[in-house]
Amino acid sequence: MELGALYQEVILEHNRSPRNMRELADASGCAHGKNPLCGDEVTIWLQVEGDTVSDVTFMGNGCAISKASASMMTQAIKGKSRAEAEELFARFHALVTGTGSATDQELGKLRVFSGVAKFPTRVKCASLAWHAMKDALSQASHSKTDTRDATP
Ligand code: ZN
Repeated sequence: MELGALYQEVILEHNRSPRNMRELADASGCAHGKNPLCGDEVTIWLQVEGDTVSDVTFMGNGCAISKASASMMTQAIKGKSRAEAEELFARFHALVTGTGSATDQELGKLRVFSGVAKFPTRVKCASLAWHAMKDALSQASHSKTDTRDATP
């Protein structure tokens, strides 16, 4: 199988025009991820309101797969509840590591990354932004304290 088969049109398109690629001011959570194998770097910001991820953004440098994955992750996670975001992370992770199903309807367009499972060095490229998203999300939950009590 050729590596070129990985670069499906949807991945190339997101790499060309990434969605939600900006910093997010006053984010509830922010996390950075690095993939030294490929040189990919990504920073994820997310805003959590109540139980909903109201906004997700990213900035990063790297290969087409890492960038497209970050772009599509932000689209997939935005508007989801915390639990739904974690569930989607688990499904996506299973897909790219080859333990999930490439016909998992819940994943929608994210299924284009199923080919990554055949290339172990590319798994990190595809999952980098998702791991950072999970870190940012747990940060957001930890900071969910009632600030009224903290007011002097
Ligand atoms: Zn990469």
